[in-house]
Amino acid sequence: MKAALNIEATHLYVRFLPKDSTELEMMFGDSTLTLFSHPLDYELTEGEKYIDSTLIGNDFTWLYTRVPVGYTSPISQYEVIEQLYLPTLIESEIQGIKRQEVSSNISNDWWDILENKSFELTGNSNSAQKINSSQTIQKASNRWTPKATIRVQDNVTNTYVPLQGVEVRARWWFNWEKGFTDVNGKATMSGSFSGKLNWSIVWDSHDWDIRSGFYGQAYYNGPDGSKSDWNLDIGIGGKSFVYGHIHRACYNYWNNNLGLKKPFIDNFWKQKIKIAVYGKAGRSYFGSGWRWLFGAPVAIYELEENGSPRNSNRIFNTTIHEIAHVSHWEMDHSDFYKADDRVVESYAVGIAYVFSAQVYSAGQIPHGDFQSISFDVYTAPSPDGYESKYTALVIDLMDNYNQRADWGINRPVDNVSGYTIAQIENAMKGAKTLEKWRDNLRDKYDNPTENNLDELFNNYINWR
Ligand SMILES: [Zn+2]
Repeated sequence: MKAALNIEATHLYVRFLPKDSTELEMMFGDSTLTLFSHPLDYELTEGEKYIDSTLIGNDFTWLYTRVPVGYTSPISQYEVIEQLYLPTLIESEIQGIKRQEVSSNISNDWWDILENKSFELTGNSNSAQKINSSQTIQKASNRWTPKATIRVQDNVTNTYVPLQGVEVRARWWFNWEKGFTDVNGKATMSGSFSGKLNWSIVWDSHDWDIRSGFYGQAYYNGPDGSKSDWNLDIGIGGKSFVYGHIHRACYNYWNNNLGLKKPFIDNFWKQKIKIAVYGKAGRSYFGSGWRWLFGAPVAIYELEENGSPRNSNRIFNTTIHEIAHVSHWEMDHSDFYKADDRVVESYAVGIAYVFSAQVYSAGQIPHGDFQSISFDVYTAPSPDGYESKYTALVIDLMDNYNQRADWGINRPVDNVSGYTIAQIENAMKGAKTLEKWRDNLRDKYDNPTENNLDELFNNYINWR
């Protein structure tokens, strides 16, 4: 007897286990692969965590995906789990461009049914999500294009903020589609589905990648087996709240309308910025040393140093501050390493202030009280003082407020105003000292208050 159709595997269901950070970055860096940190034939509970009980204590976890037949893995720990027959999905994997090749006299719906049937035949019917073929036939004629809306709670403004530029995935078994949220937080998937699907968010973008800890991709698993659009409002508490506000800060910085350069641009030579989120208390930092190549250079802690939960404005402000260091480092690595701490930190303070002022009112901006800080507090050690390096200099260059006039001799004298944050950034190029930064500002720009630059900078050069 002759088979009506010649059914052969078109794809492989596979998994990879990176053995070190080089292999991890190799896998994450391959834009032709859509990697999942959990099995694709496993029923997930909603949230951020899938724990593989066989890998407890291991830094790395298996990464699952689908590849075309004939694929060669770049790393050695690689397993083929299943052969797949996915005729509706013949991809040009090399160019990463998807094209649908469907036989002209067979509808998409029938291919869907056949695919689902083939999952049963290949042994997937033993999986948690068993497909009932009669149900499948009923649903097959109702293809739909899923949409998701993602917002995060801001517990300082008491609003839900739509998140823009978030990668949302809809997946049913080994087929998936993606969408990126727009200004209203809404993403439309790149293709349609015939029935149920699983929703997820991957907190990864072209130029930055948010990590759970040092090596794990940050994600959120939404409803499993959903038959409707997804509206996610991320509330306070937990990692997703932190991821959401980090994402918002990064998105606003990379897409800023202030004339500031992008802090970092991903290209062949440079991997994207990794932002590690630690679910504990600590002081956030940008580490530009060895971590650069092998791990996450920016670390953000979920809790304040005193152990209390970090509010949305603090996550936002801290993320911008650390990314400002990345942007400074990106200008000139050598200058950044050699620069005076007062230049490095004053710049980051100023950038964080400007972005925070775009989304928060004056009283809500973390450290928005810079104008009232006295010299003894500036020069005192952490946590009560500013360690003689976190200054209001950049804010003073922009505003037209002189704190000395209001608060007296213990405050900086500030008769400078009207510089833009973009001019201040540009003048910092090649400036390792406060003096050079000051001179660059005077030389590059005409400003009616420029004769007072010496006086302003002297507050911090001489600490009055
Ligand atoms: Zn800093």
